[in-house]
Amino acid sequence: MRSTVFSPITGEVLRQVDAMDAAQVDEVYHRAEAAFEEWRRVSADQRGRMLLRVAGLLRERGDEFAELETLNTGKLLKDTVREAGRAADCFEYYGGFADKVTGDTIEVPGPFHTYTRREPYGVVLGIIPWNVPYVFAAKKIAPALAFGNVSVLKPAEETPLTALLLAEVLAEAGLPEGVAQVVTGGADTGRALVGEPRARLIVFTGSDATGKAIARAAADNLTPTAMELGGKSPQIVFEDADLDAALEAVLLGVFGATGQMCIAGSRLLLHDSVYDGFLHRLTERVNALRVGDPREETTHLGPQVTAAQRDKTLALIEQGREEGARVAAVASLPTDDRLAAGFYVPPTVFTEVSPEMTIMRKEVFGPVLAVTRFRDEAEALRLAHATDFGLAAGVWTRDLGRAHRMAAELRVGTVWLNTYRVLSDRVPFGGQRLSGYGREGGPDAVQLYTRTKSVWASTEPGLPPGYRM
Ligand code: NAD
Repeated sequence: MRSTVFSPITGEVLRQVDAMDAAQVDEVYHRAEAAFEEWRRVSADQRGRMLLRVAGLLRERGDEFAELETLNTGKLLKDTVREAGRAADCFEYYGGFADKVTGDTIEVPGPFHTYTRREPYGVVLGIIPWNVPYVFAAKKIAPALAFGNVSVLKPAEETPLTALLLAEVLAEAGLPEGVAQVVTGGADTGRALVGEPRARLIVFTGSDATGKAIARAAADNLTPTAMELGGKSPQIVFEDADLDAALEAVLLGVFGATGQMCIAGSRLLLHDSVYDGFLHRLTERVNALRVGDPREETTHLGPQVTAAQRDKTLALIEQGREEGARVAAVASLPTDDRLAAGFYVPPTVFTEVSPEMTIMRKEVFGPVLAVTRFRDEAEALRLAHATDFGLAAGVWTRDLGRAHRMAAELRVGTVWLNTYRVLSDRVPFGGQRLSGYGREGGPDAVQLYTRTKSVWASTEPGLPPGYRM
């Protein structure tokens, strides 16, 4: 079986890539288990140094990664250049973290020295979606390796190219064979990987539907899982906010990356008293957005990554209209013949929406914003929570007390106060409810990628009194 890899910019075929079958998956696990026996004996500082070497090579080849990522995903070149830096940062961060993992000593009654060790699981399976393939590949592989695991990574079948290039760089950096393997293929290959007891931990990023299927399959082997799933995140703009900054963040938060972000701020909640003025400015900006070739500097939005996602977005826009929402702004599609077969969609803003409407509840994963109004904090929270997702939220206000009240009340994994879409490997990230569970990043990465072993050592000869048959 082979998958066809397209460029969404022009719709042209870039490459055919093998989809691995069950026999090949078996070999992957065989190699991974053998590699783990070697890798777990490599000292943490040496592992860290190897990851730092990877980071150096990734930085040197940043432009190559960025160009390939743009070609395969249609994302703006300026974004993929930044993402190439983030992928190198990720290896650097976890390279530095590798030898800083510690256990505890625990005082217990009796003649014992009792302590814990943080140990790797073994083979960690990472499965990622098509929207941010290079950075997500780095985010799955680097922490797994830093803390002594070996990694099996499956990118999405539509966007495997930068993950395959990353595998080449890992080999070039001298990582032992089998320590980090990239498996190509789609859902069938994913199922074969997940159904394996030799996957000791599964860390998944993707849709909630696939997340549920993976969690069910993993349950058969009692394999632990972490789930980074979708979102329907609100940006909440109060009347006292810096409205200029909020406007920029709203635009970037839902139209950046053509809306294909789990953290897309796809619902805008505006305070009644600023609604009309803010909406006017927003619609002017959206009508003027330039959709086109992501390699050109003047382009604001590239295409969607896949033809299927373009069709899904167009269908949801149509459904929004049918359910009675009003299209308040829509940008034009590119007219260039060269882009005619690319996967472009028009950035769209809906108003007159209600919480029951599909565009207010379902993740679009495209450049579509639904705007509604609120009168007070309680109503803002009610609207914010009118979704099954709980990934992120943005709050715009100059009132310090209100900002932190909202941060405490919002049922999401990340709250941004007077900013949006900023992320770092140093900061835990994950969701609530249908947005998933488990946290990547920062100290939480150690919790995720290692497990605790408790060790009891007697400090006196013989068993303590009372411990005899
Ligand atoms: P998807 O769930 O369809 O696919 C994700 C990956 O899972 C792909 O590699 C796919 O081949 C694989 N897969 C599909 N079915 C499988 C199965 N039954 N068993 C094992 N693997 C299987 O997601 P997508 O359409 O590629 O990506 C979009 C989704 O990802 C959106 O919902 C988005 O919100 C989510 N996402 C979440 C985050 C986050 O960090 N929370 C980040 C980015 C994207």
